[in-house]
Amino acid sequence: MATDLPGVALDTGPAATAPHAVYQSWLDREVLAFQACGACGNAVFPPRSRCPHCGRPELGWRRSRGHAVVYSATTIEPRGGEPYCVALVDLAEGYRMMTNVVGVAASDVRIGDQVTLRFEHRDGTAVPVFGPGEEAR
Ligand SMILES: [Zn+2]
Repeated sequence: MATDLPGVALDTGPAATAPHAVYQSWLDREVLAFQACGACGNAVFPPRSRCPHCGRPELGWRRSRGHAVVYSATTIEPRGGEPYCVALVDLAEGYRMMTNVVGVAASDVRIGDQVTLRFEHRDGTAVPVFGPGEEAR
């Protein structure tokens, strides 16, 4: 068993629940959850039933603190809409996710920028996005 897992432990919830449903249920409570493998200790994201690193099923849910660094960013300029930033960010707990960087002009987002988690509510669903700065929300 790995004993020094990243993040803060979360209740697993009903075992029969699909990983993505568990993930969304945490998002709805404005918690960004990820999994950590109890066998090899790696962070796992997006949610899965087995660890992609070692193949074991011992995945536990963890709460991310929401501190990240921009790994890559691009500006989308929809016809008739406002430009927005789609980015890959590296979370401090050791996983990468696709998201939007908000609160700054999309064209001003740079690789290496420190960003922190915040939530937007779109069509009744809590969506994890990131904004500039190192402060936890
Ligand atoms: Zn593993």
